[in-house]
Amino acid sequence: MALYEDLGPPLSEEDIALKENMHRFAKEVLRPSALALDRLSPDDVVADGSLYWDTWRQIQDLGMQNRGMPPELGGISLTPLQNAIIMEEISWGSIDWAVAFGASSMPYLFAAMIGNKRLVEEAVVPYLEDRKGEYIGCWAITEPARGYDVMLTGVKGSGISFDTRARRDGDTWVIRGQKAAWVSNGTVAKHALTFVSLENDEGSEPDVGVTVVALDSPGVSKGKPLDKLGQRALNQGEVYFDDVVVPADQMLVIPRRPPTETALGQGVAFNPNAALGVAFVGLARAALEETLEYCKQRVQGGKPLVEHQLVQRKLFDMVTKVETARAYARAVSLYNSTHPLGMGFYSNASKIYATEVALEVASEGVQLHGGMGLSKGMLIEKLFRDARAGLIEDGANDSLALAAAPAMIRDYPY
Ligand SMILES: Cc1cc2nc3c(=O)[nH]c(=O)nc-3n(C[C@H](O)[C@H](O)[C@H](O)COP(=O)(O)OP(=O)(O)OC[C@H]3O[C@@H](n4cnc5c(N)ncnc54)[C@H](O)[C@@H]3O)c2cc1C
Repeated sequence: MALYEDLGPPLSEEDIALKENMHRFAKEVLRPSALALDRLSPDDVVADGSLYWDTWRQIQDLGMQNRGMPPELGGISLTPLQNAIIMEEISWGSIDWAVAFGASSMPYLFAAMIGNKRLVEEAVVPYLEDRKGEYIGCWAITEPARGYDVMLTGVKGSGISFDTRARRDGDTWVIRGQKAAWVSNGTVAKHALTFVSLENDEGSEPDVGVTVVALDSPGVSKGKPLDKLGQRALNQGEVYFDDVVVPADQMLVIPRRPPTETALGQGVAFNPNAALGVAFVGLARAALEETLEYCKQRVQGGKPLVEHQLVQRKLFDMVTKVETARAYARAVSLYNSTHPLGMGFYSNASKIYATEVALEVASEGVQLHGGMGLSKGMLIEKLFRDARAGLIEDGANDSLALAAAPAMIRDYPY
């Protein structure tokens, strides 16, 4: 095992076995799948018979969806470090698939968390039993005119507003609106965890509603699979709600309150950024390893690239960046599992730092590959494109920093 993989608290035998199993799966299944799907059109990625569906089947067949679920439903409880190990390894194989799986789990984890009996029976149990890749979820929060700002306010607390609205009708809420083309798994998902503004009679600022919608409900339609620069194995697309009826007991109402009341750690119940920080460490590590190997093989000026001093310096800097990003991302994951205060700040900081490191390392990797780094079919070329998306997904990095800044000024150090 490489030196840079073992910095930090020693891994237990169980941790090492988990890491090796996940690494094997990432290497044998996820990476080849993502590389093959990367070359297809977005429609062909999700066409019948595509490798995409077989990969979902293999992911669900691993039983990974049981992580974090309540034990009475068959949930598996892992340590924060084990969760970080899994996320890093999956993302080493393919950030596309890591994001797809993470987004997929969100409606089901939410449904299990609120414990609504109907939702548990109709969505959570079949999801946990699914071994065919049929239960895929999505997290539909951003909208055509609400991208940056929902991420900003979403971290601040409930000073948030959506163009997707729900009006009360007896024992139901009726949803109308549209979620952005960027919803991960948007055109293939069976359930969505979605955020809406709840209309009220007083005409005052609406509360926020969070709910799980079955996407085969009357009134739901979906857009075309999105065509984009990187993470092309990750399906994305709009979800439209045209008077979609949801039982009132499935709507979690978050009363609106001024953002200024929010403490540093609040508003992070749906903040996936700590996990995303760990994920982009996996991508950065993949770019580093790929480049190191290439530099050992490629001979220029009569000797392998690794023997040129400037190349050594560049590789050294890449290792240092990967190491520091991993140490920070893991520390945040562990911290978040025990500390309510500061979670939002550290999660955002971890995501920002790791995505920027991933892009820097992948970019230097392209440079060290020379012309080959620009060639289609080279892993480093894909990793560079994949890394670029990281600075935007789950909140443009500027917005995440600005979201955390006011509470940091008020509460830090605490
Ligand atoms: C790979 C990927 C996966 C994604 N997955 C999901 C998903 O699963 N679910 C989902 O709902 N969404 C998802 N998104 C959407 C993502 O959260 C948004 O793209 C992101 O929040 C930015 O929103 P936007 O694209 O609308 O950009 P905009 O909001 O239009 O912002 C564009 C730029 O302007 C800047 N900007 C905007 N407003 C301001 C301001 N007031 N002050 C300063 N600067 C500003 C931003 O920083 C940004 O750089 C995904 C995006 C990507 C790329």
